[in-house]
This record gives sequence, C-alpha cells and structure tokens, in this order.
Amino acid sequence: MTFKTLDDVSDLHGKTALVRVDFNVPVEDGRITDDTRLKVALPTIRKLTEKAAKVALLAHFDRPKGKVVPEMSLAFVAPALSDLLGAPVQFASDCVGDDAKALIEGLPDGGVILLENVRFYPGEEKNDPAFAQQLADLGDIYVNDAFSAAHRAHASTEGVAKLLPAYAGESMRRELDALNAALGAPVKPTIGIVGGSKVSTKLDLLKNLVGKLDALAIGGGMANTFLYAQGHEVGGSLCEKDLKDTALEILKEAEAKGCRILLPLDVVVAQEFKANAANRTVDLGAELSADDKIFDAGPRTVAQLKDVIANSRTLIWNGPLGVFELPPFDAATVEAAKFAALQTKSGKLVAVAGGGDTVAALNHADVVQDMTFVSTAGGAFLEWMEGKELPGVAALG
Ligand code: ADP
Ligand code: MG
Repeated sequence: MTFKTLDDVSDLHGKTALVRVDFNVPVEDGRITDDTRLKVALPTIRKLTEKAAKVALLAHFDRPKGKVVPEMSLAFVAPALSDLLGAPVQFASDCVGDDAKALIEGLPDGGVILLENVRFYPGEEKNDPAFAQQLADLGDIYVNDAFSAAHRAHASTEGVAKLLPAYAGESMRRELDALNAALGAPVKPTIGIVGGSKVSTKLDLLKNLVGKLDALAIGGGMANTFLYAQGHEVGGSLCEKDLKDTALEILKEAEAKGCRILLPLDVVVAQEFKANAANRTVDLGAELSADDKIFDAGPRTVAQLKDVIANSRTLIWNGPLGVFELPPFDAATVEAAKFAALQTKSGKLVAVAGGGDTVAALNHADVVQDMTFVSTAGGAFLEWMEGKELPGVAALG
C-alpha cells in the first residue's frame, strides 16, 4: 500500500483541494443524530486550511440515484460542520459547473465550501470519465478522506483521483495504517475473531483470514454451522446446514495453512429469544432439544480465547460471539472485548475491529477508546478483510 499523504504536498497557498469526505450522517426529523463522520473530517480540513488552501468538500448523501432529490440535499450539513470547525462553511447548490467554480474562486485562502450531493448526477456511480473531469476542473489537488466509500469505483472516489495529484487525507491515512498493522504487515502471532450471524455473509472473509492468521476464533451463530459440520448437536440454533461442506473445506484450508481454529468448547443455550431468558451452559456434545438455541459461547470457550489473545500480538475482530443485544448473551463478547482492551492498553496487543454490529457490541462493552482502531467503515472494512482491492485506495497509489 503506497499512497501520498498531506505531508507530501508542498505549496498549497491559494490552491484548491477537492476533498472527498463521508458525510452520509444518520438523520432523524432533520437533525443529525450522530456527527462522528463530520468530526472525522476535521483534521484533514484543518491541515489544509492551515496551509491556506481553499477546501471544497465533496460528499454523497443517501441514494438519490442520479437525480436531484431536494430531500437528499447536503445543505443541512454545512452549518453543523461550521459549528464543529469553528469557522464558516459555505454551501454550493451544485457539485460541478460554473456556479460551483465561481463560489470556490470567491473563497478566501483557507476558506471552506461544501458541494451539493455528488450522487445527484448519474455520472457519479457510473464513474463516467466526463463527470470525473468536471469534478477535477474544480480543484488543483484531490484528497480522499472517505475510506468508507473507497470500496466503490465512483467518479468522486476513483475517476477523479486519476485526473489530479491525489492524496490520502488524515483519517484515510489513519485507517489504512491501522488496517496495515492488523492484516497487511502485522506483528505475529496474530489472531482473528469472526462472529456474527451467518457463515454465508462471511465466506470470503473466512477464506482470506485462514490463509493469513496464526489463529482464528469462530463464534456467534456462524460457529453453529461449523459445529454441525463436525457432527455436534446444535438443536434449534441458527445454523446453515447447506453450508456443511463449505465449513469443512474452510477447516481443511486452515489446517493446510497452519491456522489454528478455535471453536466453542461450551455454549449458552436458551429456548426463548429475549433478554434474560432462562438459560443453561452446556459442554459441546451435550444433548440439545429442538427448542434449544445456542445464543452465546460459554466460560470455558472465553477462557481459551483469552489465553490465545494473551499470547498474540495482533488481533483483528469482526462479528460478536453471541446475541450481544440480549443480556446475558452478551457475556462472551463483553469479556473477550474487555480482555483485548486491557492487553491493548498495556501495550501487548494491536487490536483492530470493525463491522456495524461489532462497533455496537464494542460500544456496549465500553472498550472502543481502548482498542488500537475501531473502523466504522462498514462495507469497505469488510471488503478489505476479504482481501479485496479497494478502488478508492488503489487510485491513490
Ligand atoms: P457485523 O455487523 O459486525 O459484521 P454481523 O451482522 O455478522 O456482524 O452479526 C451480528 C449479529 O449476529 C448480531 O445481531 C447478533 O445478535 C447475531 N448473533 C451472534 N451470535 C448469534 C447466535 N448464536 N445466534 C443468532 N444470532 C447471533
Ligand atoms: Mg451486521
């Protein structure tokens, strides 16, 4: 992974930096309910404005599908960003063309402007070269600070990067550095935790990880499919029985590649899918009825996992170990998370995690701030864990 960063730019005085950010923020009744994505963009904006560059922010919002949809305008983001930045943020009601260009030219050095939703144009998602050129016409350099959009080859993430000198923004750089430390060039021994609901959504991820890691703990609902494939009882648990052969192939592949697989040794079983449902902990191999459902890993499993984490230097984690939304079935996930956080805090472990529900689970365990890096990138993070090349990152190289 080679890419230029803002430290590589020389004179920016009065030049325009076209900066791709992810401002696809959650909104309820016209209010931003979580401004994390705006905050994430601040270091890049500040670094550029300190160098007296004009900053033109390029972003998408929602799915207007190539048409102007007034309800999906980005206008509401400008004042919120201005508050966080402590400086004015102008808004351009178009993201290309003469009006946008005139507004950018009219900015003072170090001024900031947010351009309208780039997905109002069909050329964006089609990565149309003519549209990419229209974007490129607005800036002197291009900066991508939206790792979460980097798995898409769109005009604002890929096409335009080829038309201007391209750089990784500060949060993009931070994320790429963390991912590289976790899976690109990690300190060994390495361990992965993959959990969540289904094997079928994470096949590519499992296949990639068994070829790269020293150990892989499989938990959550997807562990049931592996247990079933090995001939264990899973009762009425979530289990993809049709993936039995696939699960066995992954185990074989892991053995061939020298990746130790950790499956549950004991499980927590309940009959009702609700918080505080009556439950019992049983060893693997115990008899389960058709009403019994495995909702979490048991204490022996967690003890084994902690032991392997304690002897590892790098951890990469996607997917909870149980139904963490319903206590007490959050226990394995929370205990493993707290232990990983402890090891990380004391400098013994590099711990990187990501995934929508994984972020929620780590927040629930209150450890996000103690991990090395927790990615909120969703799809881009998963594709990266699958070993795929991300077009928006590749275009920076
Ligand atoms: P992420 O979004 O982090 O990639 P997933 O979407 O793959 O994670 O999985 C998260 C979901 O998996 C959670 O909603 C959790 O309740 C569910 N899950 C975990 N363990 C089990 C289990 N044993 N049975 C059913 N669902 C489970
Ligand atoms: Mg999920």
